[in-house]
Amino acid sequence: MKYVFGPVNSRRLGISQGIDLVPPKICNFNCIYCEIGATTTHTCTRKEYIPLPELLAEIDTVLADRELLAHIDVFTITASGEPTLHSGIGQVIRYLKEKSDKPVVVLTNGSLLFLPEVRQDLMAADIVIPSLDSAREESYRRINRPAACSPLAELIEGLITFRKEFSGKFWLEILLASKINDSPEDIAALVVAVEKIRPDKVQLNTVARPPLESFAKPLTQAKLEAVARQLPGEVEILVDFTTRDREKFRNLSEDEIIEMLKRRPCTTNDVSEALNLDPDTTQIMLQQLAASGRIIETTHDDKRYYQTNR
Ligand code: SF4
Repeated sequence: MKYVFGPVNSRRLGISQGIDLVPPKICNFNCIYCEIGATTTHTCTRKEYIPLPELLAEIDTVLADRELLAHIDVFTITASGEPTLHSGIGQVIRYLKEKSDKPVVVLTNGSLLFLPEVRQDLMAADIVIPSLDSAREESYRRINRPAACSPLAELIEGLITFRKEFSGKFWLEILLASKINDSPEDIAALVVAVEKIRPDKVQLNTVARPPLESFAKPLTQAKLEAVARQLPGEVEILVDFTTRDREKFRNLSEDEIIEMLKRRPCTTNDVSEALNLDPDTTQIMLQQLAASGRIIETTHDDKRYYQTNR
């Protein structure tokens, strides 16, 4: 399948069947921490970037697999770019809601929520997780490197308006990079913005995986905890997922690992947890793939990651 991937074991959502709406790398941002690579098409134009009939046919294949469906906790609409740029996102969400009882989650950079049609498209979702990495123009430009068509004021207004209209769960993700968007002024501006947006909770993150730019560095756990104490409302720090029981419910092929690594660099533990495979077997498969040149090894923050050649 080209557009439906997984299921992967997501640390915040459980067993998640991913649906990728935009091919790499179409986005209106070019975040310094992006795991996918550099944005090749920097645009705010919404259109049918991948053919909807093909995508819905892949979703039908998943919906027909009862054994697979029984293991899935959620459908997650994401992208190798920004999913709300796909003009058919509303149709995809409504299709999933009509054909299955699984919750539908949307991960988005949130910057198009100022558009009434985008807000309308996301209305049928169960959980929407938009991002707001900075509420100050200067650091917004440093961390997200938005296209000129994405001003910060519109992003924040869109988040405030969508929160008022949307009755599902609304979790706001904030990713902080050291010395980029974590100054006292940045945190003070985020406090004001979060008070206005009023998300159900904030999910605080840092540069936990190999980033696009080597100067994108993570905050320490202590610094993240200090920021979490300053932000209003419920704040959750996204940490590594280590406790979920693992089971093997299907045989894994090398191609499934490659598909996962195409979307983001992963540690052995990430792959083993996401694909429900025991760590020793995962390690052997990753080493074999690296030896054959199909994937490469990199190091970030003293951890070893595997990824495909970008
Ligand atoms: S992290 Fe998301 S919003 Fe930022 S450049 Fe990558 S795909 Fe776009």
